[in-house]
Amino acid sequence: MSFRSYMDEALSMAREAGARGEVPVGAVVVSPSGDVVARDGNRTRELCDPTAHAEVLVLRAACAALGSDRLPGHDLYVTLEPCPMCAAAISFARIGRVYYGASDPKSGGVERGARVFSQPQCHHVPEVYDGISAEPAAALLRDFFKERR
Ligand SMILES: [Zn+2]
Repeated sequence: MSFRSYMDEALSMAREAGARGEVPVGAVVVSPSGDVVARDGNRTRELCDPTAHAEVLVLRAACAALGSDRLPGHDLYVTLEPCPMCAAAISFARIGRVYYGASDPKSGGVERGARVFSQPQCHHVPEVYDGISAEPAAALLRDFFKERR
């Protein structure tokens, strides 16, 4: 599977989140052997949990499946630039590579804002690849917020 097909999987998780009334963001974790070990979308409303972002949910599920609090060599795909909370969680989990779709000028914490991975206090810095399937990821969010207005 190519990195784009993993992002397609994240996009389908984002679509499902939107259908549940959640902000449409989806994420998957891929093991070093190329298996999708966790996939989910935002569930903050459903779980009444402000930390239930897609990235946090897939990190928790992948760690539980592996029986470890770290995921070395694993990759994380997410449709939107991670926020500072998720970027910190990604670093704690020792994720190898992060692929994300759309940029998030409002709440992103990777390219802008807190720039978590660029701080000297960040002890594990993943490789970051942005703009993967950015257009469909951004369109999902645009449509979602347009309908809410
Ligand atoms: Zn987040």
